[in-house]
Amino acid sequence: MAGNFYLVRCGDCENEQVVFGKASTEVACAVCGTTLARPTGGNAEIEHEIVETVESRAPTQ
Ligand SMILES: [Zn+2]
Repeated sequence: MAGNFYLVRCGDCENEQVVFGKASTEVACAVCGTTLARPTGGNAEIEHEIVETVESRAPTQ
């Protein structure tokens, strides 16, 4: 199963950032540094709002 990417909106500063759905390390917001996702051993746990799911191999539209 291919990993997906998620467009996540930081709840603290509203920065939107793409996060790998199976991130193996904590992903911090590039702007304010808050934790956006943390690894769980499988799919990362996204701690903020997911704006959009981006399938890595899906064609645009
Ligand atoms: Zn932020």
